[in-house]
Amino acid sequence: MIDTHTHLLEIVKKELFLETVITEARAVGVTRMIDVAISPDDWGERRELADKYPEVSLTLGVHPHACDRPDLEAALATVEELADHDDIVAIGETGLDWFRDYAPRDVQLRAFEKQLEIARRCGKPVIVHNRNADHDVIEVIRRVTPECGGVLHCFSSGYDIAAQGLDLGMYISFAGNITYKNASELREVAKRIPLDRLLVETDAPYLAPVPKRGRVNTPGFVLYTYAVVADLLGVTTIELADIVDRNATRLFELAR
Ligand SMILES: [Zn+2]
Ligand SMILES: [Zn+2]
Repeated sequence: MIDTHTHLLEIVKKELFLETVITEARAVGVTRMIDVAISPDDWGERRELADKYPEVSLTLGVHPHACDRPDLEAALATVEELADHDDIVAIGETGLDWFRDYAPRDVQLRAFEKQLEIARRCGKPVIVHNRNADHDVIEVIRRVTPECGGVLHCFSSGYDIAAQGLDLGMYISFAGNITYKNASELREVAKRIPLDRLLVETDAPYLAPVPKRGRVNTPGFVLYTYAVVADLLGVTTIELADIVDRNATRLFELAR
């Protein structure tokens, strides 16, 4: 079973022991986790984790929340410089967050476009964050379409946005929020996603699924989200894990 989107160093900041977190994930059958970058600043530390834990794959990028920095251009240049590194399976996360607005919109747009260009140049997929920015996210991806596709991660929008993303070669990834009581619309969307474009993630330490909602999320909890999505699709958790494993292996060119 794969957790296609997690932030290991952010979990550590919540004062959990990574060793325990990884052991618990292994115990429930998590065989791979993609550690998604917030910024290139902690690249060295993340490399060390990936060296220590063979099931960890890495991405590199600047999160929309991390864009408000005077040296943004230098950070993007670092992403560009390291993008071809064999250990990097995707560029991101990048995208637009019109909900929190931690960084000015023009700055987020600039960083998003630049990272899509990097993804195109290095032939890697891109991980896209979208909060309250449906149409702008789609418009930018339409303008700078990553040739190797990508993922609309923690998908929380309507089916029309999923359909437009699918047309642009994006995969759709569901996180713990699909297990929430008030997410019935999102569950209907999930039922309509083609099985070969579906991913599952935790976005840990955020968005812990029911029955762990409110706790610090960890990759091991991905099991609960798999169970809910599998139930929606009328397959077993193991069947869904196989489907997502195949999809992630294809999209991120993971070693089998
Ligand atoms: Zn995100
Ligand atoms: Zn994330």
